[in-house]
Amino acid sequence: MTKKVAVIGGGIVGCITSFFLIEKGYEVILLDQSAVGQEASWAGAGILSPLLPWNYQDTVNNLCFGSADFYYQLSETLKKDTGIDPEWIESGMLIYDINNKDYAINWCQKNHIEVQQVQIEKTPCLFLPHVAQIRNPRLLKALKTYLIKNNVVMMEHLKVSPILDSNNFIHCLQTESGFNLEADYYVVASGAWSSSVLNEIDMPKIKPIRGQLIQYPAIQEKLPYIIYKDDFYLVQRQDGVVLAGSTKEDVGFDKGITDEARHSLLQKAEFLMPVLKNYNIENQWSGLRPGSEANVPMIEKHHKYNNVYLNVGHYRYGLTMAPKAARIISDLITLNG
Ligand SMILES: Cc1cc2nc3c(=O)[nH]c(=O)nc-3n(C[C@H](O)[C@H](O)[C@H](O)COP(=O)(O)OP(=O)(O)OC[C@H]3O[C@@H](n4cnc5c(N)ncnc54)[C@H](O)[C@@H]3O)c2cc1C
Repeated sequence: MTKKVAVIGGGIVGCITSFFLIEKGYEVILLDQSAVGQEASWAGAGILSPLLPWNYQDTVNNLCFGSADFYYQLSETLKKDTGIDPEWIESGMLIYDINNKDYAINWCQKNHIEVQQVQIEKTPCLFLPHVAQIRNPRLLKALKTYLIKNNVVMMEHLKVSPILDSNNFIHCLQTESGFNLEADYYVVASGAWSSSVLNEIDMPKIKPIRGQLIQYPAIQEKLPYIIYKDDFYLVQRQDGVVLAGSTKEDVGFDKGITDEARHSLLQKAEFLMPVLKNYNIENQWSGLRPGSEANVPMIEKHHKYNNVYLNVGHYRYGLTMAPKAARIISDLITLNG
C-alpha cells in the first residue's frame, strides 16, 4: 500500500522534499499556514552558493555543493512542464575588495572550486565564475504548479498545532481549525516557525532572523555578475531588475521593513554600482530566515517520535541546501520502511 507523508511547511525545503518523495512513490500532503512559497523562500535573493564558503564549516558547504547543477536540471523540467521559467543563470560572483585572498584561493583550490584573481580599478577582487542564481519567487510558483500536477495535495491556510503524543510516534497532526490529518510519516519543514511546530517552547533551537532587501527597477545597464562586499550583495535578474541585500536582524517574528535598512542598503548599493543613483528604489521587503547555530541545519529523525523527520534551520542558505537536505530526508523515510 502507498505510504502517506505529511510535509509541514511549503517553503523551498518542504517543496523540494515533496518533489523527492513523489519521485519515490509516496503520497504527499503539503500543509502551510499561509500560501505555499510566500515566506523566506520567496523573500531571498536566489544565490545558489554560500557567500564566502571558506568561512563556513564543511557541514554547511557539503550541503550546498552541487545545488547549482540540480537547479539547472530542475529549471529545465519546470520550464517544460509548467511554462514558468525560474531563470537559472550562471552569473558568477565577484568578491570585491577581498582581505583574506590567499586563504580563500587555497580553500577554493583544495575544494576544486574555480577561482580567478582580478583587479577592479586597483582593488583586489576574486571571481567565482560558476556561482549561479535563480529567481526564487518564480521557482516556487513553478514548483507549486509541478507538485499539484503530480498529485501532491496542497492544504493552504491551515496552521498545524505543536506536535505532541504520549507514545514514540505521532498518530495525527492537529490543526488550529480543528481538522486532524493522519499520515504514516511527518516532515517538519516549517522554516523560522519550526521550533513552535516541534513544541520546543522553553529552548527553541530555531529562531527567526529577519532579512530585508531593496529592489531597483529594470535598469538599462548590465551587471555582469553578482557583486559581494562585506556581507552585502547586488544581484541582477534577467529583465534588468536589481536586488540589494540584506540585513540580519534578531527581532523575533516581526516582518516589518525599516527606513534604516533601506538607507543603509541604498548607500552600499550605490557605492558598488554608482549608476543606481539614477534610479529610485521600487520595492522593499523582508523575510524570516530559520536561524540556527553556525548555519548548520537539523536534517534527521526526531529524537522521540519515530515517524517524524526534521528538515529545519537552514538559516542563510536554505535555497542552496534544499536539494541535498531533501534527498537525505526522503532516503531516511525510505530506510524506515
Ligand atoms: C533576505 C533574504 C535573503 C536570502 N537569500 C538567500 C540566498 O540568496 N540563497 C539561499 O540559499 N538562501 C537565502 N536565504 C535563506 C533562505 O531563504 C531560507 O533559508 C529558506 O527560504 C528556508 O526555507 P524553508 O522552506 O525552511 O522556510 P520558509 O520558506 O519560511 O517556509 C516555511 C513554511 O512553513 C510554513 N509554516 C510555518 N509554521 C507552520 C505551521 N504551524 N503550520 C503550517 N505551515 C507552517 C510557513 O507558512 C512557510 O511557508 C535568504 C533569506 C532572506 C530572508
